Amino acid sequence: MNRRELVRRAAIATAGLAATGSPAMVSGLSGWGPPHYAPDQTPPELLLLGGRVVNSDGARDADVRIRGERIVEIGPGLLPGEGARIVESAGLLLMPGGVDPHAHLQGGFADDLTTGTRAAVAGGITTVGTFAYGREGETPVDALDRWLAEVPRTAVGDVFFHVAAWPPTPAFAEMMPDLATRGQPSHKVFMTRRDFGAHRDALIHVLESARDAGVVTLMHCEDAAILADTARRLRETGRTSLAHFAESRPELAEVAATQEAAALCAHTRAPMHLVHLSSARALEAARDPFLGTLPLTIETRPLYLYFSEEWLRGPEGPLYIGQPPLRPASDVEAMWRGLQDGRIDMLATDHAPWTRAQKLDPELDIDRLRPGVSDLRFVRPVLFSEGVQRGRMSLGRYVDVTSTAAAKAFGLYPDRGVIREGSFGDIMVLDPEMIHSVRASDDPSNSDYTPFEGWTLRGWPVMTIRRGEVVYENGEVSGQAGSGRPANRHPREVGQ
Ligand SMILES: [Zn+2]
Repeated sequence: MNRRELVRRAAIATAGLAATGSPAMVSGLSGWGPPHYAPDQTPPELLLLGGRVVNSDGARDADVRIRGERIVEIGPGLLPGEGARIVESAGLLLMPGGVDPHAHLQGGFADDLTTGTRAAVAGGITTVGTFAYGREGETPVDALDRWLAEVPRTAVGDVFFHVAAWPPTPAFAEMMPDLATRGQPSHKVFMTRRDFGAHRDALIHVLESARDAGVVTLMHCEDAAILADTARRLRETGRTSLAHFAESRPELAEVAATQEAAALCAHTRAPMHLVHLSSARALEAARDPFLGTLPLTIETRPLYLYFSEEWLRGPEGPLYIGQPPLRPASDVEAMWRGLQDGRIDMLATDHAPWTRAQKLDPELDIDRLRPGVSDLRFVRPVLFSEGVQRGRMSLGRYVDVTSTAAAKAFGLYPDRGVIREGSFGDIMVLDPEMIHSVRASDDPSNSDYTPFEGWTLRGWPVMTIRRGEVVYENGEVSGQAGSGRPANRHPREVGQ
């Protein structure tokens, strides 16, 4: 019997399995990363045949066998095991599941872990980083534990967390090893906090402790004092409407804070990640040769790649508000160049979903804002179409900036961010020639608009596999709420 015949027979034999969905769920096994099949079952097999496997370091034609949660074999001419589900992948690209380190899926935003990770898997993103915000009286570690427990109850994709504690107390510095032992070695600092300047000595202590524990510090770089004084000037002259939003957050504030963050990174050697970088001068400040090579990674976000400041004007302008604001076209070009030449490591979403009515609420002003947009669903297809198909980046670079770089920076690699034997079966199957028109109604997020409405894309995800389970197929999310798991991470090695 030839290979095609074997494949055909296996497909017939397993048609029933595919139709009835995933194998038996096992309750009581909802710890960190258990398989989704019973221990006495043979792990289900998924065999992707005839696709093109793309990693950040190159592409090749190969079949991929996933058994249970992991990739077990990659190569030409693989034959299906008993009961295998076959995914015919000729003409399709198999890329690592996306890793998005920066999404807001709680705390007043329109999405929770369920809707946010549904949007993610629909967009080929299998692992999402979000924030473990604390409640009154809760320690950062307690907040982290509470959020970790929430994932196997509600999430569809796998989730990791950054704690966000302030001020940077000695007690918080002592918690850094606890973040690492929980597999969640990262925390976020907002330089926009009004009292940021008062706590710089203490922050250095926290950064040193973070460095020693291999904990990454995410930095929101806008200078609090410059922002506050700019807002004061605008208020004094009655210019507080959202029409003045861009003025209220000048580039100077981003450059000054980025310079300080990079200096703190150079001084402490603590691993650092700069979120949502938006301007050419901030990028220069972060990559200043005077500072030498730093353990510093940088993300930008879709808003800064596709939209310049003109979009903030007019009645629909508030729909495009994010922090920092949209910048001039020269900065948009600089973000592309940075992503191409590697000075910017990754494209993160900063997914911050709101409804159209919430964004256009006439009560809002420069002090009361709803910053951000929904991006988990469309970030990868839009970048494929605008980046790869327009010849602005290679396939390998595309995989790097949407998956591999984040997996490496946040301690998830090589479990994630790469298609190789031993890694999780996290795969986005993309049809590079499918023409698709973007509609907000296709976004499982509770946000009801997208900046990309009506864009015609060339290339579209047709299937997402998360730890060996098909969670999105032909436009439908099939992954169940509660099938997601906390994504365990290893600490960043000191000196990296
Ligand atoms: Zn954010």
